[in-house]
Amino acid sequence: MSFVRKLKSQLETPREERPFGSGWLSGTLALLAGVTGFLMVILRWYPETFSYPEIAFVQESGLATVVLRFVLLAGYALALLSLILSRRKTLGWTALLVSVVASLMATTQPPVGQAPQSLYFGLDYFIINVLIVGFLFVPLERFFPARSEQTVFRQEWQEDMFYYLISSMLVQVLGFLTLAPANFVNATADLDAVRAFIVGMPFWLQVIVIMLATDFVQYWVHRAFHTFPILWRFHAIHHSTKKMDWLAGARMHFVEIAVLRGLTAVPMFTLGFQPEAIQAYLLIVYFYSSFIHANIGWRFGFVERFLVTPRFHHWHHGSDRDAIDINYASHFPIYDWLFGTHHLPDKEWPENYGVVGDTVPRGYWRQFLYPFRSDRQG
Ligand SMILES: [Zn+2]
Ligand SMILES: [Zn+2]
Repeated sequence: MSFVRKLKSQLETPREERPFGSGWLSGTLALLAGVTGFLMVILRWYPETFSYPEIAFVQESGLATVVLRFVLLAGYALALLSLILSRRKTLGWTALLVSVVASLMATTQPPVGQAPQSLYFGLDYFIINVLIVGFLFVPLERFFPARSEQTVFRQEWQEDMFYYLISSMLVQVLGFLTLAPANFVNATADLDAVRAFIVGMPFWLQVIVIMLATDFVQYWVHRAFHTFPILWRFHAIHHSTKKMDWLAGARMHFVEIAVLRGLTAVPMFTLGFQPEAIQAYLLIVYFYSSFIHANIGWRFGFVERFLVTPRFHHWHHGSDRDAIDINYASHFPIYDWLFGTHHLPDKEWPENYGVVGDTVPRGYWRQFLYPFRSDRQG
């Protein structure tokens, strides 16, 4: 068995074969810490190439060095712990090796003579994204799972991680696309009366109104993506995941991301909300969209009537007969009540997830091309 296969098989150890104390969790966290440290060193070497200008201050403040030391030390300690505890050593050794290489690189100067490129890949943005959201949701899914048999490194997790990477790295391109429809509305419509009204609202009310307005747009755009076959081809990608967790929501065709973000940005950027309220909303959405896909089995009781929960959105992803074309809202189920698409059986979860007939191929590039293919099924 090749090294990569061994590592992959150890990472994908089924839940029942890795009880607490088996060295799997420490090994996995060690590898995560090692790879994080390694990427942080690369960022220090090529700041102009990889950094996202808005968070450059993190690099310059000296905080990055403290964090890097801590991450690498954690990598060492956890790798050793895993090597002590686990019978299979591939994971522990790999994590240790990555941490050592990163430490050696961290103490040397960056290679000279290479012209820095200003491409802003947004790699650091991706790392911060995955670390924050992953460290929040992985333990929650582990301790409060809706489906306890599901593992962190479930089927097709690499594909969804790649989606996460791509959309993080395209933040700037998407930023430009996203604002185009809102700019058009601003240039053509006279909304001064509405703006005067909104400016007078307190901050918290503005945040709620943004959520209501964007979710109204999101409901109808989402419903259109389910209704018109030409749009469904794109949206089918989002529905092709058969295992739901915090990462699953990242799987979305580039065209759909651009359309959805562009149209939901219209009320956000045309009605005169204060920038702080918009930022608060974006922060909420950032966690909320991972949350509703997460494998979290919390009971929410009456809250489920007012706010979208994992169970509500999991039903939207269900492939059973009664789970088709329902629950389009992403914040407020009331829109589904009002427009006749609400479906939430008491306490139950859907049996299966995915696209009926399983017509979507696997892998990022095949899925990217899928909507444009004439021999596509379904
Ligand atoms: Zn959908
Ligand atoms: Zn979804």
